[in-house]
Amino acid sequence: MSRFWALQLRKLHLHRSPVATLSSFSTSASHSTATTRPSPPPIRVGLTEHAGRGVFASRPIAAGQLIHTAQPIVSHPSLSSIHTVCYFCLRKLPSSARSFQASQTVSFCSEQCEQQSKKFYDVEKKADWSRFNEYCRLQGLKYPLLVKRLACQVISGNVSSDVLDILQPEISSSDRISKMKKEVALLKSTFEDSDIGNEQMAFLTEEWYAGVLARIRINAFRIELAVGSYEDLLSLAAASVEAEAAVGNAVYVLPSLYNHDCDPNVNIVWIDNVDAKIKALRDIEEGEELRICYIDASMDYKARQTILYEGFGFRCNCQRCMSND
Ligand SMILES: [Zn+2]
Ligand SMILES: [Zn+2]
Repeated sequence: MSRFWALQLRKLHLHRSPVATLSSFSTSASHSTATTRPSPPPIRVGLTEHAGRGVFASRPIAAGQLIHTAQPIVSHPSLSSIHTVCYFCLRKLPSSARSFQASQTVSFCSEQCEQQSKKFYDVEKKADWSRFNEYCRLQGLKYPLLVKRLACQVISGNVSSDVLDILQPEISSSDRISKMKKEVALLKSTFEDSDIGNEQMAFLTEEWYAGVLARIRINAFRIELAVGSYEDLLSLAAASVEAEAAVGNAVYVLPSLYNHDCDPNVNIVWIDNVDAKIKALRDIEEGEELRICYIDASMDYKARQTILYEGFGFRCNCQRCMSND
């Protein structure tokens, strides 16, 4: 993690949880070494007039520029992709490496992904997830899989249980809370049937589950890997990039701080794995707020307003909406 980010977060008093939060929050700048240190990304996090915090350009950004890359705090393949993508980075596996038969085997695309997964996967492997996965499959649920992985990361000591507290939560309905009780009971009993000690699971309460799920529901990104080469995508300034079906879901810190606009000036693309790449769609001036579009921008005014209100709890006042487009 670069000092730049540590400082930006500290300024905003966002460092509620200790080192674990900050170290799991990485951008391309964090790969820098003492000798070849790239300049920090051209952005800063600050307060907006009406939408809480947001991300701003700290210097001019040219159309098509890759602004920064972000790695997720937690990610998980969708159940339908579990045997065709890397269990860690969601990269498509070559067909020879796919494991079709045994439902309990998963694959990694590289030794590096296997190493990075080792801690949470060692915990996960101790338990039998067939009931939990079957429940998610029957109910069509994707987010409990992210909670499950996060719980394994916490038990393994990889992240702190409050790592997502920095993100905005959704206000849960009572209907959702009763469904959630079933999920948390199933998650707990799955861990209890393994040999994981009770004290390691002490964080796993209904309250923790509800808080985590409420943040995942608003902040998770659906990962659709783009079709095309890296160079094509970075040189394109087009808003829409052809994408295949979703391969999974992931939660990030920085990408979640971008506010919405129905006519966005930046977008997020996933090229070959779960790393989010934030790209400028047009020339951006210093000080301008960077905004992404949370929904399908091709929808009409009414449809956009409905989805944004029901899914994210706000009415959009962007310039496009103000002109009723
Ligand atoms: Zn991988
Ligand atoms: Zn709008």
